[in-house]
Order: sequence, then structure tokens, then C-alpha cells
Amino acid sequence: MKYTTQELAFFTNSELIGNPKLIVKNLAFDSRSIYSSKNTAFIAINSSKNSGEKYIESTIEKGIEVIIAEKKTSDNPQITWIIVKNSLQFLRQLAKYHFENSYIKSIGITGSNGKTILKEWLYQSLWNEYQTVKSPKSFNSQIGLPLSLLQINAKHELGIFEVGISKPNEMELQEEIFHPNIGVLTYIGSAHSSNFENEAELIDEKIKLFKHSKTIIYNGDKELVVNKITNLHSSKKLISFGFKSNNDIHITNDYKNRQELVKVKIFDDEIEFEASTRDEATLSNALALISVLKELGFSNSKIVEKINALRAIEMRLEAVEGVRNNLIINDSYNLDLDSLKIAFQFIQEYNKPKKALVLTDFVDSDSHNPSFYKEVIDLVNEQNFKQVFLIGTEISNFAKDIKTNVFSFDSTSSFIESKSFEEIDNQLILLKGARKFEVERIKDILELRKHETRLEVNLNALLHNINVHKSLLKPETKMMAMVKANAYGLGSFEISEFLQHHHIDYLGVAVADEGADLRKKGITTPIIVMNPEQHSYRTVIEYNLEPEIYSFRVLELFCNELKKLGVTEKYPIHIKLETGMHRLGFKDDEISQLADFVANNNIKVQSIFSHLATADMPDEKSYVEFQLENFEKTSNKLINLLGYQPIRHILNSSGILNYTDNQYDMVRIGIGMMGIAYNDEIQKKLQNTVSFKTVISQISNINTGETVGYGRRFKAEKESKIATIPVGYADGIPRLIGNKIGKVNVQNQLISIVGTVCMDMLMVDVSDVTAKEGDDVIIFSEKPSLIDFANYCNTIPYEVLTSISPRVKRVYIKD
Ligand SMILES: *Cc1c(COP(=O)(O)O)cnc(C)c1O
Repeated sequence: MKYTTQELAFFTNSELIGNPKLIVKNLAFDSRSIYSSKNTAFIAINSSKNSGEKYIESTIEKGIEVIIAEKKTSDNPQITWIIVKNSLQFLRQLAKYHFENSYIKSIGITGSNGKTILKEWLYQSLWNEYQTVKSPKSFNSQIGLPLSLLQINAKHELGIFEVGISKPNEMELQEEIFHPNIGVLTYIGSAHSSNFENEAELIDEKIKLFKHSKTIIYNGDKELVVNKITNLHSSKKLISFGFKSNNDIHITNDYKNRQELVKVKIFDDEIEFEASTRDEATLSNALALISVLKELGFSNSKIVEKINALRAIEMRLEAVEGVRNNLIINDSYNLDLDSLKIAFQFIQEYNKPKKALVLTDFVDSDSHNPSFYKEVIDLVNEQNFKQVFLIGTEISNFAKDIKTNVFSFDSTSSFIESKSFEEIDNQLILLKGARKFEVERIKDILELRKHETRLEVNLNALLHNINVHKSLLKPETKMMAMVKANAYGLGSFEISEFLQHHHIDYLGVAVADEGADLRKKGITTPIIVMNPEQHSYRTVIEYNLEPEIYSFRVLELFCNELKKLGVTEKYPIHIKLETGMHRLGFKDDEISQLADFVANNNIKVQSIFSHLATADMPDEKSYVEFQLENFEKTSNKLINLLGYQPIRHILNSSGILNYTDNQYDMVRIGIGMMGIAYNDEIQKKLQNTVSFKTVISQISNINTGETVGYGRRFKAEKESKIATIPVGYADGIPRLIGNKIGKVNVQNQLISIVGTVCMDMLMVDVSDVTAKEGDDVIIFSEKPSLIDFANYCNTIPYEVLTSISPRVKRVYIKD
């Protein structure tokens, strides 16, 4: 988009204060992800959870000159204001106007699953046929859709947008601003959100998107969907796809048989193609893709060509730890100006002080326009990179315009062989390259641990899980995230940094060194040390950590240390009360002495807390009630004697779910972030956060009677195929789950571990699956779940996670 401030105010009937002639090309609604202040307006959106107005000052500091808000919050004369009645309404109105005044052909995708993949595949298949614009990432919400539509420019011919809803009546609002020519309904899952009464209601809502569409392309495997669409939209062109043979476009052969190509019937014709991934979700997305390409008029041979050209698309920006303390953000699956902007936005979230950029030639048609690279270089110059590495003969011509240390190379290989490559350290390295440059090779070389075993931590899921817990609480209740024991094994810095970015109130660690480590890496959120050892009080104070104090002995030691270090302000401490766990804490009869001590020393009680022994056990409700009563009584006593009101907290994750009424002023979440709920109803709402994955090293054929592994504990009863996978008890897979006790997932089937688990390897029986060497093996993720895996091991998820060896690479995923 490109509007003057006057136009923006005029189209939406809003008040303009300031300069009417400023040009606005981007709207930012998250102050943290502003990557360029040039031609950018900040829109302060207020929601029930947050007020956008809080962030106006910080955007002004970043150089933003145009603010769209419901009220004027500062008198800074540099700022131009557009004062609106309701910011979300403004955004919708503008997007509607913008969309309706564009000339693009539009595709709108909705459904429960596959929206983003289908959109990306369509984009991959169509960008060199049409000037195409698409929703960035999975921007499909009430805010995401309008922002996506605003990306349409005069040059665009085709727009592919995802449309999501989470509650009844939302689709009508979405359709009001966006009416696609071609509507696509991917797949409707049987799990529907609790906001809908039933599946029928969900379907009714989704298909409202097609009100003004000419063509509807839909998954016709579900009878309910077919009935509803054919009844409601009989006057439109309808194309169905799916696995059932009554669909216009469907698979005709046994697609699981890898000896054969996948065969697809398209109306009266048939095509066939190679498919390396054959799970139903992928194939269903492929059928949707074929249907849209057909509707756009592509010949069957062209469709096959396009499918064959699709590579498994890694849509996620992945962040991996690299050698020499580098952090590598790999976003190398495509390169255009939009995705470059998204990547710049994404890296704002990391506060590594030094950042480097690796950028290649752009290969799309735009890039031959002389002003194109200028725009790219201007954008790069705004990002404060410490070093910029340009790869390719075109972009290297612009090295002189880069205002920082710049190096240029004609190929990825010459960069990898250079001295400057060897010397990159302590940096965040963003890799942005067109496919043909294969910049992912750079990632492979810089990656810390080379073998393919990895623990994937999905930070989006983690945030989702936090929000599920938050939704049960009062808005003002604070939340502390427990990141002790290396954040339950997931990586305490990465998790803490992410949570800090999302405004968590407190972090909790077990020992002082864990807290000091976080401070050294730049974490500024308050940190409580749950179990400071007495020799570490100095560290606690030097790194501005807040200790848990559970007895007079440690209280005296700590106060002595404060005196020794000459601390003059009142130091915050957290008083642990013993209420029934019988682990650590002050007892009721010690409270008056404690209050006296506090009054006579240079400390202030920041919080009073205790811990429940049985919050996860439905049969132990009365014990929880007993502890809660003790806590209420003893904490009140202390508060009365102190004469001020510290924060009180007692609930851990399962406490939040099962004893919500006792939330006091703060709660302490731990395992709940990882998607584990000791409450069935909530468990359904949580997402899987952690996946432990590896790949098959080798497959051997074993004859009847032959044995596998140490001690020959598996003996083949028939001819078998045995796969060796490179994880063992040194990685945290307990030896006791060998010999068919544990299972792993290969090709979406659960198969048994056979023989004894070795130190670095174990063997599984793949006789019944079509597996090959190099295939992925899931130790746990969705199936088996972390809970299933803990059951194999005869333990609990906490112990499983904290036992995974540090040598297993942690990979963090953020969409
Ligand atoms: C670890 C811990 C928690 C978090 O427990 P979860 O069961 O993982 O939610 C809460 N409070 C204290 C004191 C803890 O040590």
C-alpha cells in the first residue's frame, strides 16, 4: 500500500493532527517488530489483554512519525496523529477499501489444517506465472488478514490469503473485508475449538467466506461438508477433492505403496507423480494444490511439472545454536522483498548485541529494476548489522552503499572458504538467500552438533500453553515461569529470552549460577533463586537475583552477606512458608520472630509463598485444602506483623488448573508450558511443545533365529528388518525401555525398540513399515507423546525432560 496521512484519515473518516502529506507504506502493530521507521505508521490496537497505547512512546523512540490511535497520548510536535474511534475498525476499513480498489484475482484459503502449507505451495507454484502477493507466515486472524491485504501493490496480479477464525461470527467480519474469487476449504478436523457447539456450527461459519466467490474448491471427504456446500452454494462452480472416489479430484491407487507413483484422477484425466512424503495430510494438501492449479487453467503436464518442482518447504524460520557462540537464523527457502522484511522483523526479537546478515542476489523479475536493490540496501542499512556478507555478482555491485563492514563473494563456496567466515563469532547470523545459492550449507557448517538428533522446542506452542493457563486467571494475576534445571532441559536462556519478550513477570531458577548465567546473557526480568546455596549469596547479590529464604539460618547468612557487600537499599527476599510439603520453609510458630528480624534488617519481603504437594492428584483434594488453609493463616499473620502486603503465591501448573480460586497475586507455571496438564479438559487445549527426533542410521535384514544387540536379547522369529538409530542411554533414553517396552514413531507408525538400549544407539523393528535409511524417527512428540514416553520409562515427564543429555542439540521453532 501507499497512502498519504491525509488519505488514510479521509478514507476512514478519522481526525488528522499534523502533516497531511506524509507517505505511509507499512503499518506496524507490534512495537518490538518495527524493522524500519521509514514510511511506517504505528497503529495502537487495544485488546482485552493489552493496550497498544502503552507502546507509543517506544515507537517514537524508534523514529516512527505517524501514530494511529484512539487517543493522542503525547504532545511531541514531530508526530502526526490519526485519531480513530476504534483502531481495529480502522484497520478493517482501510483493508477493505484497499482490497476492493485493487485489481487482483484472489484466492482465500480457510479450514482447520493445511492453510499455511497450501498457501506456500501455491505461492511456490505461481510466483513466476503472476505477480503474486500472499499472507506473511500464518497471518490469518482478525488483525493478520487486514495487514496481509494491505500488502497488495499496484503491480500485483494474484493474491493468496489465509483466513482463520476462532469464534462464532468471525468469518462474517473477515468476509466483509475480503471476498475471494476462488475460495478453498482445506480440511475440517474433527477436533473443533471449544468456542463452537459442534462441527456443523464450525463448518457453517467457515463456509461463510465463500459468500461472494465464483468458485469453491473443497475437501469433499466429509459428508457434512459436501451437504452444506452443495445446499448453500449450488449456484457456484464447485470442485471437490479428497481421498474418496466421488470427489472430482482424487487418488486412484494405493498411495502407501512406495513402489508406485501417486496417481490422481482430475475429472476425466489421470496424472501421476513422485511423492517422497505420503502421509494423508500432505497428500490432501497436494490434491488441494492440484485443484487450484486446474481451476487457474494449467494443463495436466504443467501441473505435474509444478508438483515435481516443490521441495519440502521449511516454512519456519529456524534458530539453531552455532559454533563460536553464534546463533543462526535460517530463512533460506525463498528470497523476495516481503520475506526479507519479515526476517528483519523476526530478528528484532533476539537481543544478541551483534548481528550479521548473509544476503544473496535476488532472482525474481523485480530485481532487474535498478531501484530495486537500492530499496534493499536502504532497508539493510537501517538494521544496524555489525557485518554484512553479500553473495552473488549482482548484489555485490552495491557493497559500496552498505554502511557497515561489508564483504562480497561471487558464490556461497567462496564465502565458506574465506577467512572472514572463520572469524564470525558471538553474533546472530541471519541467512537470507535465493534457493540456487544454497545458503543452508552455511548453516550446516556453522551448526554446533552435527548429528541429526535434536530436541525441537516449539516456542509458539509454549506461548499458546501459557495463554491457556492465563485465560483461567484474573487479568491482574502475575505469572512466574519456572526455568530451573535449564528450563526443564529445554534451554534456560532461549526460553527466558522468549518469555521476557512476552512480558513474563518473574523467572524462577533453582540455584544462583543459573540466574547469573541469564543475567550475563542479558535477561533483565526479576529472577527468584529457589534454593540458593549459602556460598552463592554473593553471586545472588552481584547479579541482582532475589533469594528464597526458608529458615533463620539462611536469613542470617544472607543478611551478613548484604552487610559485607555494603548494600544500602532494602534487598528483596521471598519468604517460603512450610504448609505441609515438609521440605523447606518457615513454620507458623516462627512468624513473629521472623517479622522482628525483617524489621531490624535491610531487607524487604517481596513475596510470601508455599508449594502444594498434591495439586495434580484428584484424590488428595483435602490435603491441598489443608495446605491452603495453613497458607492463608500463616501468611496473614506475617503480613499483619510486617505492616505491608507482599505478593502471595502458591499455585504451580496443576494448581492453576485445579485450584484456580486460590491464585492470590501470582502463580508459578512450569510443566504446563511444555503442554502437560494434570486435568483432562485442559490437556485437550494445550499444544505439544517438545519433540525429540532423530534419523535412521542403517537398516539391516535379519534372518529367522538371528539376534540383535548386546546380550542377544532379541531373537528374530521371522525375517525382519531392523533399523539402528543414533540415540542411547547417554542421550537420556533409559536402558530399561529396551526389549519391546518402549516404542518410537517411524512413518507415523509406532514400532518397538528391540534388544538392549546401548550407550549411543538403539535398534527398532521396522519390518512392518516402509522405512529407509535417513528417515525421521520420533522418540516423542505427538505420538508417542511425552506422557507415553514417560510411561514407558516408568517415570514422569519432568524426569524425562531433565534427563535428556546436553549433547542433544536443542532447536527452537517460531513461526
Ligand atoms: C518447579 C516448581 C514449580 C513449577 O511446578 P510445575 O509442576 O512444573 O508447574 C512451582 N513452584 C516451585 C516452588 C517449583 O519448584
